[in-house]
Amino acid sequence: SHRIMLGPLVAAIDQGTSSTRFLVFNSKTAELLSHHQVEIKQSFPKEGWVEEDPKEILQSVYECMERTCEKLTQLNIDISNIKAIGVTNQRETTLVWDKETGEPLYNAIVWLDLRTQSTVERLINKTPGRNKNHLKHKTGLPISTYFSAVKLRWMMDNVDEVRKAVVSHRAMFGTVDSWLIWCLTGGKSGGVHCTDVTNASRTMLFNIHTLDWDPELCEYFGIPMEILPRVRSSSEIYGLMKSGALSGIPISGCLGDQSAALVGQMCFQDGQAKNTYGTGCFLLRNTGAKPVMSEHGLLTTVAYKLGRDQPACYALEGSVAIAGAVVRWLQDNLGIIGSSEELEKLAASVGTSYGCYFVPAFSGLYAPYWEPSARGIICGLTQFTNKSHVAFAALEAVCFQTREILDAMNQDSGIPLTQLQVDGGMTSNKLLMQLQADILCIPVVKPSMPETTALGAAMAAGAAEGVSVWSLNPEDLSEVTSEKFEPQINTEESEFRYARWKKAVQKSMNWET
Ligand code: ADP
Repeated sequence: SHRIMLGPLVAAIDQGTSSTRFLVFNSKTAELLSHHQVEIKQSFPKEGWVEEDPKEILQSVYECMERTCEKLTQLNIDISNIKAIGVTNQRETTLVWDKETGEPLYNAIVWLDLRTQSTVERLINKTPGRNKNHLKHKTGLPISTYFSAVKLRWMMDNVDEVRKAVVSHRAMFGTVDSWLIWCLTGGKSGGVHCTDVTNASRTMLFNIHTLDWDPELCEYFGIPMEILPRVRSSSEIYGLMKSGALSGIPISGCLGDQSAALVGQMCFQDGQAKNTYGTGCFLLRNTGAKPVMSEHGLLTTVAYKLGRDQPACYALEGSVAIAGAVVRWLQDNLGIIGSSEELEKLAASVGTSYGCYFVPAFSGLYAPYWEPSARGIICGLTQFTNKSHVAFAALEAVCFQTREILDAMNQDSGIPLTQLQVDGGMTSNKLLMQLQADILCIPVVKPSMPETTALGAAMAAGAAEGVSVWSLNPEDLSEVTSEKFEPQINTEESEFRYARWKKAVQKSMNWET
């Protein structure tokens, strides 16, 4: 059998909240050649707690790598053509491990987790004027359960093993990118402890202007700086794979998943934006070399820094905690669907929520409200309402939440978006995409290659100094084909429904009082 000649290949590890993937792209065409995906278990040990097992996460990465290599070999593609590996990951999720044993000291606390709600309230009460934006000038973020610093603080206060390891200088902190890179480059025998600027910018310990850990922020949260990883750019060689079929290949790209999607969607110009529908939903708009502070509840974050000597680019971000997670909830908790694919059929069978509104504020509300005490509500029920209407309302909820962050984005930037570029697991739902166009009153555009997050990380890895098999010039890539959803309902109807949604949101925030 003959070997197919393809030129250099570039790979990405995409470690998301609900699954891990490993994907291999042709660096000439951005074509996806092969991939493998493994689901990740989430545990909910107490109300509001969300954890994942760091070893399962690592194991899933090895499994995806091995299986993808097998598939490539079956396709007669020589895996020695893989020149670089990029890492992209669920952001903020917090891990602590022992650098001498290599063992995790606690489960990973997932970004959605709410256990730090009382810690957050205590911190906000301590600030002048009870201001949740007290640290925003340095971090771009409000004090919230969402970011890593409070989760790390919680571990140091509540987990004996973590406290002991910190005291005896054996503890290493990291987000998922750091954990994976450390393990893959050798772990306790010489692993590299690093992160990139995009992941660091979600910890609340990082100064987004100086692009370094901030001693004052570390002191504020009581975090010893020696446990922090070294901060690197998003595109440089961090280390080499230590074992397995891909041993010796450089790991040379690292981006938080939302930043990676921005790169993968080629949003390199000031003003370009994308919205990713995964477990949560994240709309990022590139603001160029300048960090723009939001007046409307958005975050300011580092978008990417593609090389040690390249400037950092920033983004405004609207984060929604619950998008695809509501689909999983309908499946696992209510049992009204057997799989996420069934949701579309169920909702389409009625084509309306019949006045039912579903605010899935399971983890409080993120942008633009930042209200940790909000809780989910389903309202507007009548004798007529059935599970199909609830399913429809769940899809609409994702669209309304996006509308709220898009409105905030348009107000902050003064230049309304004329169309929305989208990606993520939920975008395979065509009804959702059509509803989104209807509710935003602008076209929604979806690339035909949906793995833009992985593509972004692979591009960063391939463009790194010393690898250089991939140019980051969008014109060098073959034409990106896409699918477009045009708004089909009139603006009045859309505004009417949106106004009702906003009333429901108010109830989700005040239902206890
Ligand atoms: P993450 O990166 O957060 O792990 P993905 O981008 O892989 O997320 O998307 C997975 C999410 O998308 C899951 O929450 C799943 O419920 C949801 N999802 C997948 N397919 C569909 C579908 N056809 N309709 C609605 N939701 C879907």
